[in-house]
Amino acid sequence: MPQAWYQLLFSCEHASNRIPAKHRAVAEDAGRVLGTHRGHDPGTLELGRRLARKFRAPLFVGKWSRLLIELNRSRHHPRLWSEFSRQLAGSEKQSLIDDYYLPYRDAVESEIRRLESSGGPVLHVSLHSFTPVLDGVVRNADLGLLYDPARAAERDLCGRWQVALRELAPGLGVRRNYPYRGVADGFTTHLRRRFTANEYLGIELELNQRFVGARGWRDLQRVIADSLARLLKHHAR
Ligand SMILES: [Zn+2]
Repeated sequence: MPQAWYQLLFSCEHASNRIPAKHRAVAEDAGRVLGTHRGHDPGTLELGRRLARKFRAPLFVGKWSRLLIELNRSRHHPRLWSEFSRQLAGSEKQSLIDDYYLPYRDAVESEIRRLESSGGPVLHVSLHSFTPVLDGVVRNADLGLLYDPARAAERDLCGRWQVALRELAPGLGVRRNYPYRGVADGFTTHLRRRFTANEYLGIELELNQRFVGARGWRDLQRVIADSLARLLKHHAR
């Protein structure tokens, strides 16, 4: 059942590696780790802005580093807190949840609700990037598309997106549900529980960080944008 049209929404949960001054101790503790892939997802903010501009779609951006609190984990997931923020006082944790985590997640959810009720299913693309080598193992992909295989619309869309990417950039390594599974704990997984498969498609686009700032980085951004446009055109047919 191909949909005629999707309302687009983009998000970058891990855009920033900043930590607010009131949590200076966490930043000092984390030290150089803040500047690494563990502090943030390089490249996603630039890509998110480009896509939001091209498609005139809303973009939601996490303001603080995931080393403070992890927007892409459920409220009770053990990795909501990093080893640097775990020891914060209960009251400090509660205010991070109340003043930052929940408002971010609620704002995205409300916007999905608004878009969906005003004109059809929402395609949410949550942008992430992954380190080329993790624990000595080379990650064997340039891009990953993460989705729930039990949701036919997500599965079909990611299959078509993979084809469109390969057509535009034949050398590009695009894998599905790699380097993570789309149904692992995360924001899109949470949102799938809030919205039906007819209301919501939650896709995570995972980008290999070796491209970011390197030669071909702008070309890759263009390919991602153009492939998505092609997909939507296909749907609109
Ligand atoms: Zn991420």
